[in-house]
Amino acid sequence: MSSDVIVRFAPSPTGNIHVGNVRPALINWLFAKKHGGKFLFRLDDTDTERSKQEYADNIGRDLTWLGLTWDLFDKQSDRMDRYEEAKQFLIKAGRLYACYETPEELSLKRKSQLSRGKPPIYDRAGLRLSDADKAKYEAEGRTPHWRFKLEHAPISWDDMGHGTLSFKGEDLTDPVLFREDGRPIYTISSVVDDLELRVTHVIRGDDHIANTAVQKQLMEALVPHCGGKVPVFGHLPLLAAANGDKLSKRNGALSVADMRADSGIEPMAVLSLLAKLGTSDPIEARAKLDQLVAEFDMTKFSKATPRFDPEEVKRLTVKLVQDMPFEKVKEKLSDREGMPDIDPTFWEAVRPNLNSLDDIADWHRVAHGPVEPVIEDADFVRQAATLAPEGPWSENTWSEWIGKVKAETGRKGKGLFMPLRQALTGMDHGPELKDLLPLIGRERALARMNGEAR
Ligand code: GLU
Repeated sequence: MSSDVIVRFAPSPTGNIHVGNVRPALINWLFAKKHGGKFLFRLDDTDTERSKQEYADNIGRDLTWLGLTWDLFDKQSDRMDRYEEAKQFLIKAGRLYACYETPEELSLKRKSQLSRGKPPIYDRAGLRLSDADKAKYEAEGRTPHWRFKLEHAPISWDDMGHGTLSFKGEDLTDPVLFREDGRPIYTISSVVDDLELRVTHVIRGDDHIANTAVQKQLMEALVPHCGGKVPVFGHLPLLAAANGDKLSKRNGALSVADMRADSGIEPMAVLSLLAKLGTSDPIEARAKLDQLVAEFDMTKFSKATPRFDPEEVKRLTVKLVQDMPFEKVKEKLSDREGMPDIDPTFWEAVRPNLNSLDDIADWHRVAHGPVEPVIEDADFVRQAATLAPEGPWSENTWSEWIGKVKAETGRKGKGLFMPLRQALTGMDHGPELKDLLPLIGRERALARMNGEAR
């Protein structure tokens, strides 16, 4: 099934993205796949001072690591001429006007409005300037910034997240679209791109609702120039921290770059969680994006603020890792430095004990050494060693051996197996000894029981 659906994820490369950004990215991606459409990755990089190539590269790597690969790519810095053309079109259409106030003058105006109990809406002084006024400002060395003239009319749309949303044009400030230095502001570049790149659905955070009211009018004004049509909008609540606070670095808003660097986090754990947060679907580990696509439905998301708990990512990671097929593990380990080469027997033995794939290195060392044995009850351990079955050892060795030790010593339960586990592995927990013994092997096991670090 293919369709004309195009959605976008449009971060500004002014920093690294975090889970709060991954949620809209994922929802857009799932929406695209569900509808046989395309996912556009667009860099909103018109802020040349704050945008950095390093962040753009990181965001691309983040999306790739998550598996949210894109069908289309664009960056606004490549499209500056398009915004300039839109500017000329809006000026000719009488919808863009020059303003000469300095930031200080604007701030004074706002303060005076507020002190009179009025909303701080721009007074449209720029619209009333004569050519002579403008010439005077320019002679003073001022260059204008440009505002869009909103229509003072009702604005409303059927929002995918909220149902009907309504604003009044007269309650909104004419937005600045171009700065004094000529650079476009996000409001205009985003609108030109959404129209020209034929974006059909704009799905983003609730923090953009007021922007949408403005952008909708701007889009209507620009359709004759840019083509396309006003997209469908959907706004979703922003993610909060587990305690309800705004997400921040301190309360778990890990950057995706950090998660990527932490080999203890599985990307599908992050996605399994974010695809279901805010819906009434159970949050369960999903190994493949296809499953999330099948379960996805835009109408499942509630208006309540979803809370993100990094502990959930850990829980889902454990589940994903323990359920991973051997071939997949093998492939993942080969991408990592310093990880051992493992075989299916080893994998089956240790998988129930893993919290992340990192733990493989630890259990590999327990199996193949060196291990510093812990021997607290030397006599018992020595006696048990004399009862060790002949090799080669198999998965039946442990029960055969422990049966003999039990019969000879009369010990049972923890007192029976714990001193042996400690001597054999140097630890008091770990994978089943029945699975570990064949991996350790008779010779190494007896050496350890003899106190040797092997
Ligand atoms: N670059 C904007 C942001 O990061 C995009 C918002 C949007 O239109 O989706 O907030």
